[in-house]
Amino acid sequence: MSRAAPLVLAAPSGTGKTTLARRLVDTSERFVFSISATTRPAREGETSGVDYHFVDRPAFEARIEDGALVEWATVHGHLYGTPRSELDEAAARSEHVVLDIDVQGARQIRNTVANAKLIFVLPPSIEIMMERLKGRGTEDDQEVACRLRSALDELQAVPEFDYVVINDDLDCCVKEIESIVAGQDGAKAASVPLENIEVFRAGVARVLEQEYTHANG
Ligand code: 5GP
Repeated sequence: MSRAAPLVLAAPSGTGKTTLARRLVDTSERFVFSISATTRPAREGETSGVDYHFVDRPAFEARIEDGALVEWATVHGHLYGTPRSELDEAAARSEHVVLDIDVQGARQIRNTVANAKLIFVLPPSIEIMMERLKGRGTEDDQEVACRLRSALDELQAVPEFDYVVINDDLDCCVKEIESIVAGQDGAKAASVPLENIEVFRAGVARVLEQEYTHANG
């Protein structure tokens, strides 16, 4: 059995990353979801202590002060952070803890958690990414535009990751991640042609320019 290692999943919005992370932990008892703290208000259907620990800004800042967060970042105007206890408890139980976090957080984990595996998840196409982004129904145009702008930055970070997986078929993607964890060869980020990422990134920029100029800000 491979040693338990924290697994960082980062991806642009609309990649289906959270669904993937949840499927991963539902598929195997060896995976456990890291519940982040955030100052973002809960969306409909979200539960504190299950999806996130929803806290106010002073409570979040107190956690930073106490060193209780292993990483934290501002994402789309809200604070998000990974409680250190999530990593410690998973390690004590020899479980792989799955961190569904942004690129800024992934960088901090890479620098501080030696055995973490960093996986960048890509959507199969811009069309599917846009469908997922709009289909969520909780975001207005301004919010979608903001997430697309973040995607432009995040896509530049792909070479900093250990692996890249494409979230086309959820079950295939889960199998691919399981094999990465098992130490078999996954798609090493270094082996993904950067031109492909650049083409994808240019497509995102085009959508932003052509469809969301009214939501610039
Ligand atoms: P959402 O608000 O849509 O749930 O998440 C927005 C972004 O924040 C996503 O990219 C998500 O992965 C990221 N995020 C969630 N939890 C954390 C965390 O603990 N730390 C960091 N750095 N990012 C997080």
